[in-house]
Amino acid sequence: MQYLGFEAYEKSINAIGSSTIFMAKEGNETVIIIALGDAAARETLGFTGTKGEDGKIRVPLSHENAEALRKHFPFTAPVQGLRKDRSFGVGDRLGIATPGHIRVFEQYDVFPIFAQQSIRELNLTNRTYEDVLDAVSFAVFREGFKRGFGADGDHLKTVKDVEYALSLGFSMITLDCSDHIKTGEQPVPRHFLDKYLNQDFALGEGITLSFTEEELKRDLAIYGEAIQFAADMYTRFFKNGTYQGDFEISIDETTAPTTPLQHFFVARELIDAGVSFATLAPRFCGEFQKGIDYRGDLAQFEQEIKVHAVIARHFGYKLSIHSGSDKLSVFPAIGRETRGVFHVKTAGTNWLEAMRVVALVDPALYRETHQYALSVFEEATKYYHVTTDLAKIPDVKTLTDKDLPRLFENNDSRQLIHITYGLILNKKNSDGSYTFKDRLYRLWQDHEAIYTEALVQHIGKHIDLLGVKKL
Ligand code: ZN
Repeated sequence: MQYLGFEAYEKSINAIGSSTIFMAKEGNETVIIIALGDAAARETLGFTGTKGEDGKIRVPLSHENAEALRKHFPFTAPVQGLRKDRSFGVGDRLGIATPGHIRVFEQYDVFPIFAQQSIRELNLTNRTYEDVLDAVSFAVFREGFKRGFGADGDHLKTVKDVEYALSLGFSMITLDCSDHIKTGEQPVPRHFLDKYLNQDFALGEGITLSFTEEELKRDLAIYGEAIQFAADMYTRFFKNGTYQGDFEISIDETTAPTTPLQHFFVARELIDAGVSFATLAPRFCGEFQKGIDYRGDLAQFEQEIKVHAVIARHFGYKLSIHSGSDKLSVFPAIGRETRGVFHVKTAGTNWLEAMRVVALVDPALYRETHQYALSVFEEATKYYHVTTDLAKIPDVKTLTDKDLPRLFENNDSRQLIHITYGLILNKKNSDGSYTFKDRLYRLWQDHEAIYTEALVQHIGKHIDLLGVKKL
C-alpha cells in the first residue's frame, strides 16, 4: 500500500511513542522507515539509519537494527513454546521463507519454530545465527505476526555453540548427544541392577517394560556417557537460570534405532539426574531420509511409536520427530499415537520448494543449477546420508520446460537437489562472483508470491496430516 509516500507493508505499520515505524520497499531494497515524532523520542529509539530529504529515517536491515527492533517489539523476538501441545519447526536455510510460513501458521493451532538451523547448515550456507534470527524477526515484523515463535539452535554439540545460540536469544536448544553414544557392553554398577532388574515398569495404557541384565549392560554402554553429557550441559546452561530456554535431547543421529527400552532408560536417567527437558528425539525404526517420504515397515513404525508416545506421556515430555520433511505417510500415526502432542522438524523441504519455484519460472536457470548439482553430488554425500540413484533422474536436456517442476515428484531428483544446497549456493565464478546465488535470490524476491503459495500448500499438507486443527 502507499503510505507516507512509500510502498509500505501494511501489516508492519506500528508506533513507538509519537513516531511511526514501518517496513517499505525502495527499489530492490527492503528498509524500515521511521517518521519521527517529537525530538525526545528520537533520542531513545536506538536504530541506526540515515535521514532523507523528506525528513524520514531509512533504517537498513542490519543485525544491530534487528536487535533494536526486538527490544521495541517483543513479538519479533523468539519465545519459549516447545512445551505447548503442538509445535513445528521450519528450518529456512535461505532466510526468505518466513512470510510463507506465517501464512501457514496463521491458520493452525500449532506453535511455530521459524528459526531453526544446525551448525552444519550454517557452515554450508555461509550464514550465522545472527542472520538466521534477524531474517525471521524482520519477516515477523513485516507481516505483523504477533502470536509468538521460537528459535532452535538445532543439533548443537558443544558448549561454545550452545552459548552462541542462547546468548543471541534463541529460545530452544537441541542438544545432539550422538558423539557420546557408544557401542559395546559395560559392567553395570550395583545400584543400576537394583534399580532396573527383576521388576516391571508399568507405564499404563497396557505397556509394561522390563530389563534383562544383558539389555541393561548394553543400554548403559551405549547411552551412559550421552546421559552424563546432557546432564552436564543442562547444569551449565539452564539449571540455575543462567539462560531461559527449551531443552531438547536428541539421540536420533545414530545408525541403530532407539528401542522403547532404551528410550525409557535414557529418559528415566535424565529425569533422575534432575534434567528438565521439553522434548526428546529418538531414532525411529525405518529410514527418515532427507526430503522424501518414510521408508520402512509402516506397521512396525506404528507399533513402536505407540510405545515411544506412552513413555513420553509417562514422564511428561513430548516426542520430537526429526527429518520430518515429506514423511507424509507416517504423520497420521504420529498425530494419533501422540494424541496431538508432538514436535516435528522440517528443513530441507522448504529449500526444495524454493527450487521448484525456480523450475517453474526460469527453466534455463533451473537446468543450469541441476546440471551443476549432478556434477557435485558425490561431494555432497559427505554431509548427508541418502540412497539416491542418479540413473533414475530424467535428463533435463530432454525434458520440456513444462515438465521440469515434475522433477520434484521424483525422489532421486529431490535428494539430488536437497543435499547439494550448500555447494549450489557457494559456487563462484573465476571473477569471485556467485554463479547461482545472486540470480536465485533475485528470482525468489521477484516471485515471492509463488514461493509463499507453494509453502502454504506443502507445509500445510504436513500439518493437516498430523491432525492439527485449523483455527
Ligand atoms: Zn536429528
